[in-house]
Amino acid sequence: MSEGSRYPRAAPLEGLQYLTIAISGEVGEFANEVKKALRDDGGELTPMRRDNLHAELGDVLWYLVAICRELGVSLEFIIKKNKAKLDQRRASVGGGNVC
Ligand SMILES: [Mg+2]
Repeated sequence: MSEGSRYPRAAPLEGLQYLTIAISGEVGEFANEVKKALRDDGGELTPMRRDNLHAELGDVLWYLVAICRELGVSLEFIIKKNKAKLDQRRASVGGGNVC
């Protein structure tokens, strides 16, 4: 991983703990941008706000990929596994949004 990928990993699960806290923080930053759109932008997504949301999603994605690596799986594996789970759930409830 890149220069920015250094994080504590001395104890078992320490890397996973660190990354879990980090991704939670990034999801919070995303939510904060949505809050600012509601509070400061009249409930609209301005180009600047949309750009900020894109940046925060990138941060979330970065940590998601790091967590996958920590768990020894690829992001593609997780996507396929989740699709299979949703397909099975959708089949059991007869379609619709089942996430
Ligand atoms: Mg961020």
